[in-house]
Amino acid sequence: MLIHNFALADEVSALNAIYGAGLVVATFSDSHHTTLSLKFPAFGFSFLLRVYADYPLSAPEVLGIDDLMDSRKPEVQQNTVYLGACVRAVHYPDYVCLFDAIDEFEMIMKTLPLGNQGSSDKDEVTERKPTSRASVLRDLALRTRAKAGLDRGDNFTGNLPFDAIDCSSCLEPFFRVDTANLKCKHSLCSECLHGKEPVPEKSVWSLMAVAEGVSSMFIDRSELKCCGESVPVPLIRQHGGFEEEFLERYVFWLQEFRNPNPTYCPWKKCRSFIPKRFIREDYTECPFCKQRICMGCKAKEHGGMCRQDKRLKMLIQKEEWRFCPCGQLVERSYGCNHMTCRCGAKFCYKCGKPSKGDWACGCG
Ligand SMILES: [Zn+2]
Ligand SMILES: [Zn+2]
Ligand SMILES: [Zn+2]
Ligand SMILES: [Zn+2]
Ligand SMILES: [Zn+2]
Ligand SMILES: [Zn+2]
Repeated sequence: MLIHNFALADEVSALNAIYGAGLVVATFSDSHHTTLSLKFPAFGFSFLLRVYADYPLSAPEVLGIDDLMDSRKPEVQQNTVYLGACVRAVHYPDYVCLFDAIDEFEMIMKTLPLGNQGSSDKDEVTERKPTSRASVLRDLALRTRAKAGLDRGDNFTGNLPFDAIDCSSCLEPFFRVDTANLKCKHSLCSECLHGKEPVPEKSVWSLMAVAEGVSSMFIDRSELKCCGESVPVPLIRQHGGFEEEFLERYVFWLQEFRNPNPTYCPWKKCRSFIPKRFIREDYTECPFCKQRICMGCKAKEHGGMCRQDKRLKMLIQKEEWRFCPCGQLVERSYGCNHMTCRCGAKFCYKCGKPSKGDWACGCG
């Protein structure tokens, strides 16, 4: 493909000479703009860039990637934003910038956690710490913001995906793809969302340094909220940097915490909270200790009818039945307070006192 823009044509052939042919390919070119496809060995897709005829006066634009399915993945969207930000950060009018942008982008790729990375450079990648990734991205966000002339102290100007926004908690700059963006329009960076483990020695400084993220609030058994609303679990999962094991515990606890009438296993050795999906109407089997629980009285399984059963209670009231101390139901003959059970016991319908036949309670 003939590239109409001479400066760009030179740069593309230089790039392919350095990185190997195929890194940059022009897929479209006319007198208005050129579309470049940028293929890094680590990715199965290519980034698409639009370079206008006046380049290098104007900066190239990162449009996205060439694979619709992959383009929906969060890590791909992040990488697209990082590449766009790299281009913006290194571009100065009248200087070609693709070499610097690619160089900077590859540096960020090397700080990615292993799971996010393609097959190459594995040994090098495992040695990097997540903190270095955070600081590299923060630095990039700061430079992009300065370049965009958005550094005016208000964080509402950054509307493009490549713009940096401020974390509502620590006020540091981040890319929107890296923050948990809440309904209330506040954004939390990964670190603030995660929260720090409480510091043992309680100096004033360490108290201030403890961010109230999910993990620190979970220790106090409370939920992370912003503007009165709970931070949704999918956002915590995507941006909180938690292990799956913690998330499972957290979600389990949330079910208990948000349940106005939680069921606990009554068996002494267990006492576990039982999530709604295990609850049956009459008897529930505890998913942890496998013992059975009567749902009428929420106590250990017992034979026969449950005195706390709502339907039975209503029936007893309607039919004017009473429980004899022996456990059997006794029917009341019309109007008479003198109840006699099959077991031989006599008791008063009104006050429930047992009687030897003299009906001394005086209820009549
Ligand atoms: Zn933050
Ligand atoms: Zn809020
Ligand atoms: Zn149990
Ligand atoms: Zn019961
Ligand atoms: Zn009886
Ligand atoms: Zn009585």
